[in-house]
Amino acid sequence: MSPANTRTAEERQTIPPEVRARYESVIGLEVHAQLATKTKAFCACSTRFGDPPNTNVCPVCLGLPGALPVLNRRALELAVKAALALHCDVQERSRFARKNYFYPDLPKGYQISQYELPVALGGWLEIALDENKKRIGITRLHMEEDAAKNLHEGFADAGEYSHIDFNRCGVPLIEIVSEPDLRAPEEAYAYLTNLKQSLLYTQVSDCNMEEGSLRCDANVSVRLRSDGKFGTKVEVKNLNSFRYLQHALEYEIERQIGVLESGGTVVQETRLWNVAAGRTESMRSKEFAHDYRYFPDPDLLPVQVLGAWKEEIARSMPELPDAKRARFFEKYGITAYDAGVLTETRERADYFEAVVRAGAAAKSAANWIQTELLRRLNDSGKDISESPITPQALADLLRRVESGEITGAIGKRVFAKMFETGKSASDVIAAEGLAPITDTGSVEAICRDVIARNSDNVAKYRAGNEGVFKFFVGQVMRESRGRANPQDVNEILKRLLA
Ligand code: ADP
Ligand code: ZN
Ligand code: MG
Repeated sequence: MSPANTRTAEERQTIPPEVRARYESVIGLEVHAQLATKTKAFCACSTRFGDPPNTNVCPVCLGLPGALPVLNRRALELAVKAALALHCDVQERSRFARKNYFYPDLPKGYQISQYELPVALGGWLEIALDENKKRIGITRLHMEEDAAKNLHEGFADAGEYSHIDFNRCGVPLIEIVSEPDLRAPEEAYAYLTNLKQSLLYTQVSDCNMEEGSLRCDANVSVRLRSDGKFGTKVEVKNLNSFRYLQHALEYEIERQIGVLESGGTVVQETRLWNVAAGRTESMRSKEFAHDYRYFPDPDLLPVQVLGAWKEEIARSMPELPDAKRARFFEKYGITAYDAGVLTETRERADYFEAVVRAGAAAKSAANWIQTELLRRLNDSGKDISESPITPQALADLLRRVESGEITGAIGKRVFAKMFETGKSASDVIAAEGLAPITDTGSVEAICRDVIARNSDNVAKYRAGNEGVFKFFVGQVMRESRGRANPQDVNEILKRLLA
C-alpha cells in the first residue's frame, strides 16, 4: 500500500456518534465575491467572462512599468452597498495595500488589497435553522483585485508549459470575513446561502460560482464541548460549490476529531478539498505560510467615503431579503415558509407581487407559484423572468378558479397548456374544450347515465351507505372531464338518487 493510501485509511476512520457528540466544531468563512462592474478595479479593461484569453488587458492590469492604477468608483460604490447590506460600519477613510507574493498569476509581484484600513468593519448576517435565528458576526469587508488564471490543461504543449489568461487579472473583488461564530457545516451552508442572497438582491455581484464570481474558504477547528478555548484551526480552500463546502467541512471535522482522539494534535495549516478523492489534503503548513509584507500602496490615494455619499447609496438600496420576508408574511397572510420561498430571489418576489397586483388572492398566488410554476420552471431550466406565463396571465387564470368558473383540477390542466404554449387562459379553455358545462340539462343527462350503469351502487346508497355518494360524484366529474360544476352535480345526484 502506498503511503498516501495508508493516510487515507487513517483519515477515513469513522467517529462513533457518542464521541462525535462530545465535540463541537467552530467555523469562520472567508468569502470572495466579484463586484458586478463593467470594467476592472484600476483600469478600463472589460470584466466580461468568457472572452478570448488575454484580450481584456492593458499596461495597468499587466503591471507594466510606469502604468498607474486609478480606482473604479463603481467598484467602491458596490463594496459600500455590500457593507450596508451586511450591517457593517463603512469606514470614512480606508486605504489600499500591497500584498506581496510571487506567482505567475500576479504580474506586478503584489496584489492590490486592503489590510489595516479596510472599507468596512464589524457587521452581521442572520441565519435561521429550525426556526431559531442566529446572528453571525462579520469581522471585516475589504476590496481587492483578482489574479490571473493559470491553465494547465487542454493545450498541445500542456506537458511542458502552463498558460496564463490575464483577462481576470485586476477584476474587482470584495472579501467578507466572518467571525468564528458558525458551529456546524449546516450553519456554514446557511450563512453562505444568505450572504449570496444579499449580494444578489443588492446586485453587488452575480455570485456565479461556476464562473468564479463567488468563492469560499473555510476555517475550521474542533473542541471538546467542555472546553472554553477554541482549538487550532485549519483553512480549507477550493470550495467552489455549496456542496463542496458542506462535504469538506464534514470531512475535516471528523478528521480533526480523529487526530485528537488518537492522542495527536491538529496542525495549523492550509488544506485543499480534493473533489475526486472526497477528502482534504495538506497544502502548506504554518511554517511555510506566506509573509506578505503588506504596506500601503503609494500609487493609490486613500479612499474616502463621505457621509453624504454613503447616505445616497443607502437610499438606493432595495428592500433586503429579511425585510421582504417579514413584509410578505404580514401583508399577505402567507406562512413563514411560503414567504421564505417567494423571497428567495428578487425576481421571484416581484413576480408574486405582480400576480397579486393583477387581482389574484395572495394565498392562491403563493400556492400556484410554488406547486405549479416553480416546478415547471425548474424542470425546463428556466428562470422566473423567462416564464411563459406572465403574472397578468396567471392572475387571470386564478380569478377564474377562485370565482368557481373552472375547477381547480381544470385550472391545473389549463396552467400546463399555458406554460407549454404561452397562450392566455381563455384561449386554452376554448381550444381544449375545457369550458364549464353551464347547461344543467347536460349535467343531468350525465348523472342519469352514471346512475343507470351502476345499479348495484344505487342499491347500496338507498340501503343507507352514504359513502357511495362520493363515487357517483367522482364518476360524473370524470365523464364531464371536470367541466361540470361540482355543486350542480351534488344537487342533481341527490335528487335523482332520493
Ligand atoms: P489568520 O490570522 O490566520 O488570517 P484570522 O483570525 O484573521 O486568522 O481569522 C481568519 C478566519 O478564521 C476568520 O474567518 C475567523 O472567523 C476564522 N477563525 C479564527 N479562529 C478560528 C478557530 N479557532 N476556529 C475556526 N475558525 C477560526
Ligand atoms: Zn487593464
Ligand atoms: Mg486574517
